[in-house]
Amino acid sequence: MAHFVIIGAGQAGASLVAKLRSSGFEGQITLIGEEPVPPYQRPPLSKAYLLGDMALERLFLRPESYYAEQDITLRMGARVTSIDAAKREVHMGDEVIPYDQLALTTGSSARTLPAAIGGALDGVYTVRTLADVDAMAGEFTAGKRALIVGGGYIGLEAAAVARKLGVEVTLVEMAERILQRVSAPQTSDYFRALHQSHGVHIIEGVGLDRLTGDARVTGAQLGDGTHIDVDFVIAGIGIAPNVALAEAAGLAIDNGIAVNVQGRTSDPHIWSAGDCAAFALRGATRRLESVQNAIDQAEVAAQNMMGAGADYAPKPWFWSDQYDVKLQIAGLNIGFDTIVERRDPTGDAVSFWYYEGDTLLAVDAMNDPRNYMIGKRLIEAGKSPARSAVADPATDMKALLKA
Ligand SMILES: Cc1cc2nc3c(=O)[nH]c(=O)nc-3n(C[C@H](O)[C@H](O)[C@H](O)COP(=O)(O)OP(=O)(O)OC[C@H]3O[C@@H](n4cnc5c(N)ncnc54)[C@H](O)[C@@H]3O)c2cc1C
Repeated sequence: MAHFVIIGAGQAGASLVAKLRSSGFEGQITLIGEEPVPPYQRPPLSKAYLLGDMALERLFLRPESYYAEQDITLRMGARVTSIDAAKREVHMGDEVIPYDQLALTTGSSARTLPAAIGGALDGVYTVRTLADVDAMAGEFTAGKRALIVGGGYIGLEAAAVARKLGVEVTLVEMAERILQRVSAPQTSDYFRALHQSHGVHIIEGVGLDRLTGDARVTGAQLGDGTHIDVDFVIAGIGIAPNVALAEAAGLAIDNGIAVNVQGRTSDPHIWSAGDCAAFALRGATRRLESVQNAIDQAEVAAQNMMGAGADYAPKPWFWSDQYDVKLQIAGLNIGFDTIVERRDPTGDAVSFWYYEGDTLLAVDAMNDPRNYMIGKRLIEAGKSPARSAVADPATDMKALLKA
């Protein structure tokens, strides 16, 4: 009986094994995960779960019983130490597990602040795993002073939760503006104003010089010479794909574990999907760090492990929750040159439409699910409405779908 082994029991690993079974794979499946819990969703870690609004059980993608019911061997708290690609074996210390097909869904790890600048002091956190968030939960009490390093989505979501719980928040972003890596200036302006209206002190264009304190962090020295007193620090400074296992096994690495359009690595028996997998997209080798990509790419890889020969065509979407604002993003804005703004004259809905020439690339929609959905459908259908039509409040947006 064929044995498929999946390393990494996160969003992609869980989606992959479920797809194998729902597609009729009757062989043996082993899903190996380093974390001590069944696969769970990470987005609530910086949102409802951090706020204390979501029970642990609701984080899990499926109840633990699902894996037994589906005859999937789930190994939790188990770390794969090496792969012998020539022998088709996975090693966990002394234990050896043979495979016929292997998938690497090892995800990514949060970048940490270097120990040389105080990154290893107590009271300095990252937000990647359930254990990370459980460790920092006790810090979120009214009146404490938090420094958030990094103005990406994770940092901003943590800032919103902290403010809701009465924590004093300073957020420092080294780039000229928050969200610079991922969005247009208009979206940065929107979220800067939102956070400032909730009392977050945002400092842009200034880096962290170092954290101070003996065993525990007590302060921070910023690049402009300012010193601030802090009670705890959250580093939201990006992620690095977990490629060490793949690299040591001799697989091609290029900004992540290199895969072709079908999710196959440079070894014909090894596949990869999710945050760790890099593939050709819009003229570069890219990784997409999102739930959408983890699920869809893993499902295609599962089918291809069974010989389907299917191609992965990403249909990117993403969301973020901050205070009472839901941001929804459709498409990929890489290469945009123009932004069209659409504002609801009566409510608080607003959307920014990214164009490259006359081609619609992406939409950022704030409290505007209707235009998000219309934008998503337009992008997926390859339709690009005239910019003037999108900007005109009188345009019936739904009608653009039929044009
Ligand atoms: C706080 C937070 C908020 C987010 N919010 C959003 C959001 O709002 N919207 C969105 O679309 N995306 C969001 N994301 C991103 C999204 O969660 C990730 O893109 C997704 O989890 C990627 O899934 P994955 O399976 O590739 O990786 P992961 O979920 O990271 O899973 C990989 C797993 O592999 C395990 N592993 C690694 N190496 C080994 C080994 N050697 N042996 C055994 N196990 C191993 C890891 O321990 C981990 O459990 C968020 C992420 C975080 C951290």
